[in-house]
Order: sequence, then C-alpha cells, then structure tokens
Amino acid sequence: MDSHKPYAPATLAAQALGAVDPITKAIIPAIHPSTTYVRDEDNQYRNGRVYARPHNPTFETAEELLTALEGGVASLSFASGMAAATAVFLACKPGDHILVPKVMYWSLRNWLMGAATEWGLRVELVDMTDLAAVKAAIQPGKTALIWVETPANPLWTISDLAGLAELAHGVGARLAVDSTCATPILSRPLSFGADIVMHSATKYLNGHSDVLAGMLTTGKQDDFWARVVAVRAQVGAVLGTFEAWLLQRGMRTLSIRVREACRTAQAVAEAFAEDSRVLEVMYPGLPTHTQHNLAATQMSGGFGGMLSIRLKAGEGAAIKAAARTQLWKRATSLGGVESLIEHRSSVEGPTSPVPTDLLRLSVGIEDTGDLIADLKEAIGG
Ligand SMILES: *Cc1c(COP(=O)(O)O)cnc(C)c1O
Repeated sequence: MDSHKPYAPATLAAQALGAVDPITKAIIPAIHPSTTYVRDEDNQYRNGRVYARPHNPTFETAEELLTALEGGVASLSFASGMAAATAVFLACKPGDHILVPKVMYWSLRNWLMGAATEWGLRVELVDMTDLAAVKAAIQPGKTALIWVETPANPLWTISDLAGLAELAHGVGARLAVDSTCATPILSRPLSFGADIVMHSATKYLNGHSDVLAGMLTTGKQDDFWARVVAVRAQVGAVLGTFEAWLLQRGMRTLSIRVREACRTAQAVAEAFAEDSRVLEVMYPGLPTHTQHNLAATQMSGGFGGMLSIRLKAGEGAAIKAAARTQLWKRATSLGGVESLIEHRSSVEGPTSPVPTDLLRLSVGIEDTGDLIADLKEAIGG
C-alpha cells in the first residue's frame, strides 16, 4: 500500500495498512510471544525493543492502523478501555483540575469520583453539551484536562468538539475524547482540535465481543504523550499477545460493521419514534434530536449503532421488554456484531442521570427487519 495515497478508511482497515511480512511474505502479521529482545553486541537496542511491557511488535499492527484511521501521529493499546482512559488521568498531576461530563461511561465516572479524586485530581462534573457551562467551570492555570464522550452513554447527547478544543487550548489545557461509540469511521476528533482520542477497543474496534482492549491516539508527540507512554510501560496494563492479534483481525472489518450498524440503528430509531408505546427515542440521527445538526457536522456516514428508547409504561415494562426479546441479548457492553439490550438504570443505580424507563440498544449486524420485529413483540401492549 502506497503510504502517500489518501486511501479511504475501509481500504486502510481491510488490509491493516497493507503490511506484508518481508521474510515470509505473509499478508497477516505473526504473533510474537517473546517477552524480551536481544541487545546488539555493543549493548545498544537498535531495533527499539527491550522488554514486552513497553514493547511488543504484535501491538503495532492495531496501533498503526488506528493512528492512520484517526489521523494522529501515534497510538497505544492497553489491556482495557479503562486502562487506556485511566492512563490519561494518571499522566496528569495531583492537584490538576479536570473537567468531565455528567453523562459519561459509568465505571470511568466512578473511578474519577473515587480513586482518582483520592489520588489528588480535582475532578469536576459539568454539562459538556453546554459550552457556556464549560467555560464558567474552567479555572485558568489550574484546569489541565477536559474529558468528553460524544455521543455520550447512554443518553446519546453530542458535545461540540471544536468549541471544547478552543476553550481548553485558550487556557493551556488539553481535550481528550472518548470516541468509543463514534469510531474513526464516523468521526475523527483530532480533526476538530482534540489532543487525545480514547477507545474502548472492546467495543467497535474489535467488534466481536471476544477481546478486552483499549486504545489511545495522540495528535502530537509532546511531553504529555511521553507521560502516557511511561504510565503504560510502568503500570503494565498491556494486552496479551494473542488478544492484540485478534484486535487487528477485528479491526479489518470495522468499516463495514459500523456502516451496517448505523444503517440499522437509524431504521430502528425511526421505527420506534413512530411507536405509540414509546415515550422517546434518543438517537442523534433523528432530526428531532436537539443536537442533530451538530452531530451531522461532527459525524459522517451515520450517527452510530447506539440508541436508547424510553417506554411510556415505565420501569417495570422496560425490564419486562428486555426479558422478552429473543434476538436482542440482555447483556452489558456494546459494539459487537450481535445486538444487545440493557436496562441501564439497574446497572448505574440511584445517582445515575439515566431515566428508569430507558433501554439501551447496541445494534449489531443482524437483519434490520428481524431486529425491529423482535423488539416490537417484546415491548408488548
Ligand atoms: C466500555 C467502555 C469503556 C471502558 O472500556 P473497557 O474496555 O470495558 O475497559 C469506556 N468508555 C466507553 C464509552 C465504553 O463503552
């Protein structure tokens, strides 16, 4: 593959940048289980690899592919999305003021309000859909990082990445974006001014619900990125070699999976927006979504495979509907080829901003008609 040609994401992903092993001519990378690497005779490590905590060639296929898809300069893979996200916060310094969204991935919010706060970060929750509120919360000279998730779990609100980047950079802070649900197929946060992009690669990047992984991509090689690299090398939350290999395999079909999930999610959203038993469909692809126009400027090719529906009959009816589905599997997580349904407020508990009548849907790649019919039947009268 000619590295100077502007190949489309589908092309880059399908061939994992077109790498061919120079010795075997294999078109699929080898798995390198070695935990250590030989020094040169003069005691140098000219190949750049010393030990498997910081270095593993099997990580590099997925990392280099993600860098190309996100339009960044470097990526790192981690043992989970949480390991990737927490590496960004651990690269900050105790005492730093950090702005994070009220609506975000629940486990990360819990870690930030608990262990990260005890460690010394000054974490403040703000409404990331409201630039004026973010501006008011910024403490110049103290705010080091703005963290945002868009579309945000599980209400699917959209945040203005260019606006947030401008606010962050105006006070010398960084913008990091959890882009797990957007994927680089639909949105490239670095192109809107973000500094770091995070993915739970467990979700769409791998796409088959069989690998736990996280990834970060940076827009520049700077001191902060060097600190992130050091956190991974020191803490050691790295992928197993076989998982890293599975991840690059999953990523090859990213484009086709995401486009199909978006197409079906749009159809599901439209079908249930018309359903008299449904109070609200939360999906940025619907023109009735309050931030539909913003979503359309930040996302291209679709609005994601995630949506939520709220039932007029309330919490009990929502839990029952999830119990009755045959195709939609009652399970947490998202971004796999199989569709999942989840009653989120049972997971998040009373301090969550999630309504109790809400069902979160992760749309897979099954037939659109089958999925809609299954959910229509499950919702009942
Ligand atoms: C799943 C998820 C995470 C955490 O990733 P793990 O791989 O489960 O550690 C973070 N952010 C979002 C949006 C997620 O969906």
